[in-house]
Amino acid sequence: MTTPTNCCSVCGGVTTSAGAVDFNKSGADWFEGERQFPVSDEVVAFRRCGACGFMFTPFFNDWSEADFKARVYNADYVLADPPFLVERPSRLAAYLADVLGDALPEVSLLDFGAGEGRMVEELRGLGLVHGTVYDPYHAESPLPEGRHELVTAFEVVEHVPDQGALFDQLCDLVAPGGMLLLSTLLQPVDIGSIGAGWWYACPRNGHLAFHTAESLSTLLEARGFTVVSLSAELHMASKGPARLLRRFQEAEQALAVSGSQGSGPGPRRADGPTSTGTGDA
Ligand SMILES: [Zn+2]
Repeated sequence: MTTPTNCCSVCGGVTTSAGAVDFNKSGADWFEGERQFPVSDEVVAFRRCGACGFMFTPFFNDWSEADFKARVYNADYVLADPPFLVERPSRLAAYLADVLGDALPEVSLLDFGAGEGRMVEELRGLGLVHGTVYDPYHAESPLPEGRHELVTAFEVVEHVPDQGALFDQLCDLVAPGGMLLLSTLLQPVDIGSIGAGWWYACPRNGHLAFHTAESLSTLLEARGFTVVSLSAELHMASKGPARLLRRFQEAEQALAVSGSQGSGPGPRRADGPTSTGTGDA
């Protein structure tokens, strides 16, 4: 039987089971080579759209913000994603400062899903003047008003059950001539065989929605945006020409976002089974 929650929220297509994993499976399990949390008594089932490839779990659909704060974004969250606190925001700040260069002091930047706001804090030290942060789980910050030339959302998309509402919000925050810069790891080429066994499908991190190039562009194009992927995990989108696009396109620095220590997916990638790696990173 197909229920509404089992339809693809991106394209309305028919979905089929993509397997199931323990709620306590974390992304750090992959990088550390061993489980970071004990096996729980909850199983999280994933589904995948036969049309656009979007993969998701409806497991979190009824969760309140308080549920997420208590069970996912709690004191142990850093164990599920060790680079979250310092390493990733520092890496992102260095990348953005390098790419934006002499435009940094004049750019209006909103970091959506900013965690504790460290990236913008570091960018301020490097010359950013107009920086704003928003994160419902890590600071008491209301959704910012106004629009921004650069809206960043690093490792946000895969955490949000209502993808339509998320992309409405993100696109509304972009100023005319501005752009979105998103990171979310696209599904690997072998997703059809590994499904929920993919390392990035980790409920303890709050990872619940995973895109293909097609599903990501479907959401953005429905809102008048064109998307260009700079890598398997870094994507930029704009409505028509945007002043900053070329800077990102011409940047020589490769950016690894989801993984640790700038190396992309973890140490087991080199000697572990390739079927659990990202395949296309
Ligand atoms: Zn779909």
